Amino acid sequence: MYDKNNIFAKIIKGEIPCEKIYEDESVLFFNDINPISKIHVLGVPKLSCKDFSDFISKSKPGAISNFFKKTEMIIDKLGIRNTGYKIIANSGSDGGQEVPHFHIHILG
Ligand code: 5GP
Repeated sequence: MYDKNNIFAKIIKGEIPCEKIYEDESVLFFNDINPISKIHVLGVPKLSCKDFSDFISKSKPGAISNFFKKTEMIIDKLGIRNTGYKIIANSGSDGGQEVPHFHIHILG
């Protein structure tokens, strides 16, 4: 069950501020409030999905590739395409996921 009051749902709705990197009708990328590397950006689909599996099962055709194409665009915008980076998606309690809205971490 998706918790529509989770922090990222509130950030997507604009109820909680964030340092926005990029936003369009389907995705939002913003700086992590507690960065663990020089560049630490979070990327979320705007679809209400609690974790990776939920994102995959609820997404319309094209939405998954769109999300990752936008991720690659952000990686270029951040200037880390050539220097390297990590993409992490914690999922579920054993995966260490704290915020129950599917997201990726881009660490550069
Ligand atoms: P998770 O452990 O769920 O994969 O990662 C959640 C991430 O969200 C953490 O890195 C944490 O620092 C970040 N975070 C939690 N609350 C907020 C917030 O209100 N604003 C922003 N920008 N990041 C947050």
